[in-house]
Amino acid sequence: MNIELMMLGGAGEIGANSCYVNIDGHGVLIDSGLHPRRRDREALPQLELLGERPVHTFVLTHAHTDHLGGLPYIMKSLPHARMIATRPTRDLIEIMLRNTIKLFKLDDVSKLPAGALDFYVPAMLDKFPVVFEGTLYNEPLKLQHKTSTYNGASGRSASAEDITLTFHDAGHIIGSAGVMFEAGGAAIMHTGDVKFSPQALLTGASLPRHHLDCLIIECTNGAEDKPHTYGEEKERLADFINRIIGQDGSVLLPTFALGKTQEVLKIVSELMNAGKIPKLPIFTGGMSKRISKIYDRYAHTVPRVESGFQLTSIPLTYIKYETMMNGKFFNQPSIVIISSGMLNEGSPSYRLAQRWLGIRNFGIGVMGYQDPSTPGYALLQSERDVEFTMANKPTTRACELERFRFSAHARRDELLDYIFATKPKHIFLVHGDPAATASMSATIQANFPEMNVIIPGLGESYRLEL
Ligand SMILES: [Zn+2]
Ligand SMILES: [Zn+2]
Repeated sequence: MNIELMMLGGAGEIGANSCYVNIDGHGVLIDSGLHPRRRDREALPQLELLGERPVHTFVLTHAHTDHLGGLPYIMKSLPHARMIATRPTRDLIEIMLRNTIKLFKLDDVSKLPAGALDFYVPAMLDKFPVVFEGTLYNEPLKLQHKTSTYNGASGRSASAEDITLTFHDAGHIIGSAGVMFEAGGAAIMHTGDVKFSPQALLTGASLPRHHLDCLIIECTNGAEDKPHTYGEEKERLADFINRIIGQDGSVLLPTFALGKTQEVLKIVSELMNAGKIPKLPIFTGGMSKRISKIYDRYAHTVPRVESGFQLTSIPLTYIKYETMMNGKFFNQPSIVIISSGMLNEGSPSYRLAQRWLGIRNFGIGVMGYQDPSTPGYALLQSERDVEFTMANKPTTRACELERFRFSAHARRDELLDYIFATKPKHIFLVHGDPAATASMSATIQANFPEMNVIIPGLGESYRLEL
């Protein structure tokens, strides 16, 4: 098998993730992300880097915006590609893109390519799930070759063999998948975003562990030597909530709407059921409600720690954006779990935090990675009662603050364990900052000097014979 690989986004960073793989003439594009911050040409996958290379199939690994936010742009540019995702991912497309359209209304998009946003309109939202084939885990699909070498009556290339594509549970969020391509006895795996150990709701990934010829693997936590365990973080969260409630305050937990909110809801409800924290009113946002329904839809078909567990069984109150500044949580000890996770300006968590910051007996628990450009990052650096700048505005924090790490990405040792189990001939390190990919590369080469380890650059072509 001959392959060519090219990154169209997300090389050396977690950006507009998109990876092109050509397998014996069959072009596959994996993911089409939107960069979390940039709104220039690098905000979307750089399709023009492909030149004349064909794209026959588009594969979506999961529904986070850094993998899916460029989808309308791909649909406009590649209208004939076959589009495939797992069923939960397909169900999430419309909810996530509705939010992306909202984001673009707030941003300056003048530096994006001309016409790139033509399909980012509400009228298109119903169409995206329709054009996607929805598949289940572990069900191989055939991708037909479309090679041009004509071979008499069969119309097929003399050497053409079918390529098989299989989605495997990646354990990261509902529907997330690692995708495996097999042809001519060779195997290529793209992990997407992956979490090997269980979270509160989802069980860990179940990716095949046999030998791989080529592995493309995410490295988000590739530089992190001291992993935080779920158990320890859960205890710390219980202590924090008890401390704030003990002083008659409310707790604000800013979280990503997709994935983290559902996991944190489960953690908080487990703490309440175990008597580790009091039974308090829980508040969350409307977008999370729609996403939680999709989690529940697949309660019996996507593996989870507590089989069949329904998020809708947790007693919740949903907050409306328009009325949230008069919420009951300002007057009675409560837990508010709401997006955005990085307190992006204008988001519900950002607006609530403005009020929270001024109330001494309240607490904010920042739940995960904070990009240095975000208000969440500025908040994390702040000292109590010392003025700091958040979203370009001077402010002072009177409330309490704590940071928690419930990562939905594999730990460094788990990534290395998977690599050592599958012993790929060629390995591409993606979806990580330079420190993460460099640290992973050094450890792999020290243990397996014969492995071809590549940290791919944007738009660079890598040709391999497998
Ligand atoms: Zn993700
Ligand atoms: Zn990602």
